[in-house]
Amino acid sequence: MKKYLISTFGCQMNEHDSEKIAWILEGMGHVSTDNREEADIIIFNTCAVRKSAEDRVFGQLGELKDLKRRKPELILGLCGCMMQREDIRTYFLSKHRHIDLVFGTNNIHKLPQLLQRHMETGEVIVDIIEDTREIEENIHANRKYSYKSFVNIMYGCNNFCTYCIVPYTRGREKSREPQDIINEITELTDNGTKEVTLLGQNVNSYGKTLEFEYNFTDLLRDINKIDGLERIRFMTSHPKDLSEDLIKAYGELDKLCPHLHLPVQSGSNKVLKSMNRKYTREDYLSQIRKVRAINPNIAITTDIIVGFPGESDEDFIDTLELVKEVGYDSAFTFLYSIREGTIAAKMEEQVPEETKHKRFQQLLDTLHPIGLELNERLIGTTQDVLVEEISKNDSTVLSGRASNSKLVHFKGSEDLIGKIVKVRINNVKTFTLEGNLINMEA
Ligand code: SF4
Repeated sequence: MKKYLISTFGCQMNEHDSEKIAWILEGMGHVSTDNREEADIIIFNTCAVRKSAEDRVFGQLGELKDLKRRKPELILGLCGCMMQREDIRTYFLSKHRHIDLVFGTNNIHKLPQLLQRHMETGEVIVDIIEDTREIEENIHANRKYSYKSFVNIMYGCNNFCTYCIVPYTRGREKSREPQDIINEITELTDNGTKEVTLLGQNVNSYGKTLEFEYNFTDLLRDINKIDGLERIRFMTSHPKDLSEDLIKAYGELDKLCPHLHLPVQSGSNKVLKSMNRKYTREDYLSQIRKVRAINPNIAITTDIIVGFPGESDEDFIDTLELVKEVGYDSAFTFLYSIREGTIAAKMEEQVPEETKHKRFQQLLDTLHPIGLELNERLIGTTQDVLVEEISKNDSTVLSGRASNSKLVHFKGSEDLIGKIVKVRINNVKTFTLEGNLINMEA
């Protein structure tokens, strides 16, 4: 029996992969620890989406050099998106001789034999599979929460947005068999899960690799029939594949949460074109209008990149204008970060860092008042909140997510965690709602 520690960097896909790695290690009889000094196996599940994520992995790996010197039997493994890139793998292995094991995003299921081989030979084991068709799909997972779960519905991405490294690290799109997904969610629901988040780089193109006609909305309809399940969420959508059928589903499926995360990235058609996003601001705005016509109370969030190569002041103003026109509940905002290996990395007219930061602040100054105003409209309403945890700042306060995905704080006792309760909203901030518990059962 060994103690293992998994450090996860990046997105929900990586978080869920780490839950699978934990399940595999526990299946081998190992137990988890949060203390590096105690760990016999340390796995870094890496992210390649931005330079900052990579720098953090580099930094933390360096810190482990001394620990490895003191504990030579410690096994240090790296997996995730960075390891799918040969240039990065080679660089890591040349710089960090204390790495024992390297595997990728498509061969998590091979971890037991890779670990065994390392322990028997003492050699550095490197094993990477490029082809997503070889992914072992039905690996169980040690889910962090009993009441909510991530569920992969597909792997990879075929969109090749010019700034994005994901198609090079996660491979080609591959949809899981719908029955496998439904069986997994049924089993989770039987074990107490109330909310599932369907995961994919571009969930809207689910079904394209299946051998029969069956798309994302068909899947949502079938999941909506599962008894005991109360909420369905999904991450991430691509506007070019947002179908009329999916928009209609927001008025049809009672378990589909009234929240749509629809990354726009930019409000300028010129920039959208050079990002290879395959839609215009007009297309995007018309989809938003259609979704709101179906459900006026739906929460809309997005991703926006500031400082993409060639972005002029006018282009950026187009982004600010689009933000005002849509009126986002909130947004993930990013400074454009050069990803070696992507098309945009070679583009001329890279935007100076100073300009990027100035625009970034302008964007936040535009987004936050809109988010606050939309939250203010919820004062006096009653929200169904899935209670997730005790607030980090006050042990008498609980926090949870309303069905529109907004974070809600209210006074309550720990035994409500995992339940959906009714909370009357009486105060709001830019990113959170506050209220009083009015009913222990929604
Ligand atoms: S849709 Fe674009 S941004 Fe999203 S993962 Fe695919 S290539 Fe990257």
